[in-house]
Amino acid sequence: MKNNNIPPMPSALFCMQCGHKVSHKVPAGDHHVRAVCPQCATIHYDNPKCVVGTITQFEGKILLCRRDIEPARGLWTLPAGFLECNETLAQGAWRETFEEACAQTDLIEPVYALVDIPHISQIHVFFRATLKENPHGAMFAAGEETQEARLFAIKDIPWDEVAFRSVRWALEAFIQDSAHGVFATRHHILAATQTI
Ligand SMILES: [Zn+2]
Repeated sequence: MKNNNIPPMPSALFCMQCGHKVSHKVPAGDHHVRAVCPQCATIHYDNPKCVVGTITQFEGKILLCRRDIEPARGLWTLPAGFLECNETLAQGAWRETFEEACAQTDLIEPVYALVDIPHISQIHVFFRATLKENPHGAMFAAGEETQEARLFAIKDIPWDEVAFRSVRWALEAFIQDSAHGVFATRHHILAATQTI
């Protein structure tokens, strides 16, 4: 985990335009260290990444995936992954659920859970969704990066094996709201002292 007191250095070592080795410095008029190319003057900006996923339900159960990749290989998570360029949040969440759990879903708007994780420069976004029935076969299965996909009743969620704090928070929020049947969009900030 990164120390929040140390600003992250720019990730680029070479210019993405001309391939020259970059310098790490604060450009004129800026306040952050950037990767600046001394040859073509291109400034490379590092910005947060967005993870999108779903809390997919079927008959009161929640779809979880046991990860087959690091980090947190072997632990359970909501189907989620990095948003791709040119995707909407909803498109990314749908795609990730399909890729990780081979599950077709109907997403519920608006966004349900937003988690700021500034110390790792990520934003995690979860939609609620319902699992579509598949008349031709299984409704879900393990995708490429998943060991196992399974529907869990709320009482059976394996809390000791849940992968990420953002997922744990989103699940807890969802379970609290399920008790009342009212789902307003929620927002949470994960502190730097906590693991992801
Ligand atoms: Zn350059």
